[in-house]
Amino acid sequence: SPITIAIDGPSGSGKSSVSKAVARELGLAYLDTGAMYRALAWWALHREIDLADQNAVAEAARALPLALSTDPARASVSVDGTDVTEAIRETRISSSVSAVATNLDVRAELRRRQRELIDRAREEQGGVVAEGRDITTVVAPDAEHRILVTASEEARLARRSLDVHGAAGAEHLAATRDQVLRRDRDDATVSAFFEPADGVVGIDTSDLTFEESVQAVLDVVRG
Ligand code: C5P
Repeated sequence: SPITIAIDGPSGSGKSSVSKAVARELGLAYLDTGAMYRALAWWALHREIDLADQNAVAEAARALPLALSTDPARASVSVDGTDVTEAIRETRISSSVSAVATNLDVRAELRRRQRELIDRAREEQGGVVAEGRDITTVVAPDAEHRILVTASEEARLARRSLDVHGAAGAEHLAATRDQVLRRDRDDATVSAFFEPADGVVGIDTSDLTFEESVQAVLDVVRG
């Protein structure tokens, strides 16, 4: 029978790469919900929509011409036929994504699409690893497995710095610290939480390697 593995965690917790690896290992679909918020931010900037205009951004969300691959072996995101897989990782998107993600009408629309994608993956691919900020609590609270991946601030900053700069040297760490801490704060109102909700298994990856983190999730899933 189909399974949904819901994984939440903050930026730099390692949840994306771990979720992708778990999906590959188990032959499941992979849903990166953060990519959907990022794609909307990209689209809104591209259309020169004022991110402070709640109604205009909500309307853009409802009309968002998004194509998202759920194949963990080749993640790709395109908007209106433009491949934005790389572009949505740029700093200008990371620093504006919280503005669209805190819009409640945006969240309602993207959650609706996320539930549809999860349902389809359950029917067609045996299930899905869905990751984000509100998957264990709001998008898929009835998931067969619910996990919160955390890491110390120090570990998260080092990982983000590696992702963004390919290095974790002091000068990179300082730049990354500002960005990551600002996004944590901007996200805090609606989506970030660092304590597992009732029934959610917490995995602290601060002292785990990537492979150990993947194994820890697989251990939870395999009981
Ligand atoms: O996971 P990632 O860092 O790509 O997420 C980008 C942003 O999307 C987060 O900072 C947050 O603002 C938003 N997000 C969200 N709910 C989710 C996933 C992401 O609000 N389920």
